[in-house]
Amino acid sequence: MTTLTEIIDIINQAKTIAIMGHKYPDGDSFGSLFALGTYLENIGKKVTYYCDNRDIKPYFQFIFPVKKLKYAKFKPSKFDLLIAVDSSSPNRLGIHEDSFTKHKNTLVIDHHIQQEQWSKYIYFDEKRASNCENVYSLLTIANAEITPDIATYLYLGVSSDTGSFKHYNTNQNCFTVASKLLEYGADIHKVNDYLYRYYTSSQIQTEKFILNNLVINSNFAYVIITMKDLDEMRANKGDVSMHSDKLISFAGIDLGIIATETKPNYFDLSMRSSEKVNVQEIAVKNGGGGHKRAAGCNYEGTKEDLIKFINQLFMEIKL
Ligand code: AMP
Ligand code: MN
Ligand code: MN
Repeated sequence: MTTLTEIIDIINQAKTIAIMGHKYPDGDSFGSLFALGTYLENIGKKVTYYCDNRDIKPYFQFIFPVKKLKYAKFKPSKFDLLIAVDSSSPNRLGIHEDSFTKHKNTLVIDHHIQQEQWSKYIYFDEKRASNCENVYSLLTIANAEITPDIATYLYLGVSSDTGSFKHYNTNQNCFTVASKLLEYGADIHKVNDYLYRYYTSSQIQTEKFILNNLVINSNFAYVIITMKDLDEMRANKGDVSMHSDKLISFAGIDLGIIATETKPNYFDLSMRSSEKVNVQEIAVKNGGGGHKRAAGCNYEGTKEDLIKFINQLFMEIKL
């Protein structure tokens, strides 16, 4: 594995850098992307930000400089170095997967266990609850100036991947880093307002849908949201993903799955569990990834097939 000190050297040698996070970006993906990107710009690098543009949460525009994002596919040869953050495999990069894997000088900075060496350089620390903590370590080692903007981006990542310091991945490092980021001027109130207070109408609609349609099967729960359902609620996957923790917040539920149809007969499964179930193992077995208590994978098939698949999963891990 590449060390953070080596990463600083690799970055220093590059002039033009493209940086990207995973598809359906969450707060940690954008936090890592914009914090690292802003630092790179501040030290004089020419930085281009890429993102698979599907379902970006609308409130991100009030915190991150989303106007900088480019969505179209790009020629990898335009850049000296490509960096991917918060991504555990190439398919997480969505439409930019090919450009990334074709480039010779690539770097991954992540907090998911990496299943394969899919980039020339990889740094990952799976003990970190958020990848923003890894970016923070990198910036500290690089003696970077952490501006209030960078501090806010990083804080947002720590906050969102820990569910506001409530998930079981929350540890001492989260608080240490958060406290430092406050010192550097992170606007924590703005982050809290947008992440946890201002729900849009489509977010409220999806929450109602989840509560009305969830299926409970002893200590397991799931809900399936089809494209038609999303259409009727004028909602998208971004609106659904903020409710991923909902099912596991009910007493007695050890595994919760929210399946969202993102293409016809193609579902994104968002899984959450108690300490009794390791969803990372389930996700990896089914071609996905994530962490012990929060992980995801995809399922191709009809809604009826998916129901059978989920019930089979429940049977296999019956507690
Ligand atoms: P989510 O349920 O989308 O909030 O994701 C929970 C965790 O699982 C995050 O760390 C994601 O990066 C990871 N994850 C979700 N879906 C996938 C997937 N299809 N492949 C790999 N990792 C995933
Ligand atoms: Mn993420
Ligand atoms: Mn993350």
